[in-house]
Amino acid sequence: MSRYKSGFTRTRKRFSNFTRLIVLGGIFVSVLTAVGDSAFAQQKIDVELDPRYNAVTYVQNSAEFALLSEQTYRMALSQLYVGMEDPNWTADEVQIVEGGFHSKPPAVILDCDETVLDNSAFNARNILHKQDYESEIWNAWCQEGQADAIPGALDFIRRTEALGVKVFYITNRRDVVKAATIRNLKALGFPADETTVLTKNDDLGRGDDKVSRRAMVAKDYRIVLLIGDSMSDLCTGMDVYNTKRRNEVALEKTSMLGSRWIMLPNPVYGSWQRALPKAEKALKPKLTPNVESNESNDKSDPGKF
Ligand SMILES: [Mg+2]
Repeated sequence: MSRYKSGFTRTRKRFSNFTRLIVLGGIFVSVLTAVGDSAFAQQKIDVELDPRYNAVTYVQNSAEFALLSEQTYRMALSQLYVGMEDPNWTADEVQIVEGGFHSKPPAVILDCDETVLDNSAFNARNILHKQDYESEIWNAWCQEGQADAIPGALDFIRRTEALGVKVFYITNRRDVVKAATIRNLKALGFPADETTVLTKNDDLGRGDDKVSRRAMVAKDYRIVLLIGDSMSDLCTGMDVYNTKRRNEVALEKTSMLGSRWIMLPNPVYGSWQRALPKAEKALKPKLTPNVESNESNDKSDPGKF
């Protein structure tokens, strides 16, 4: 009996130890799961807090962005037909002033990034890696040649070529990634070669403002359309680092927009960011008139556009 008792006691102790082990193990797993869930939730929140998140997810996921780009290129094609029929038509401000373009063959100039090439995967990577833009990682991305085509761009350019219109790309990608850019364009089906992809090189007079490169094309061609996601793809005078002034300059030029200049949407980045007032001064909350605001007399208020 005593043996039984003592055996029962041992068994009960073993059972008790086993139960304790199970319970402790369960708690340990629960804690690990909770920590894992918390880390996942934290990562999810961190990604969504990145200032680029909304813009990049809009580009990569929304039907609206794809349709807006398609719509823009359809409008570009109809304007191309109009411009081709009119020998007095040019999209280039310098050609308008200097003349002498009427008998030149027609050409279209497009920007590359966020106009023809979609680099949203690069920006998505940077969000996930908590990485800011740096020229080294940008050049590495360009060398990969993994950019996609902006919706509508390929069809527009193929039709443009079929009409006998020369297609040029003026991009602020540097010479060092020119070959990779041509490879990327060609892999997507775009016509592109050494002579039609004009990259940037400040030392050789091919500057950020694209003026000298537009002049290179204008020498031999009538520029029927300029297409880009930044005002500097279309005209001069946009290197203004004040939003109000920048918008005033743009307003002076709107007669060309939607006609000879075609603008693509790019909510992710652009030269407009360099002109923004600091932090909350860039927001326009439309305060009610009876609410006193320090902003109301602020001369740096960016105003409307
Ligand atoms: Mg661009």
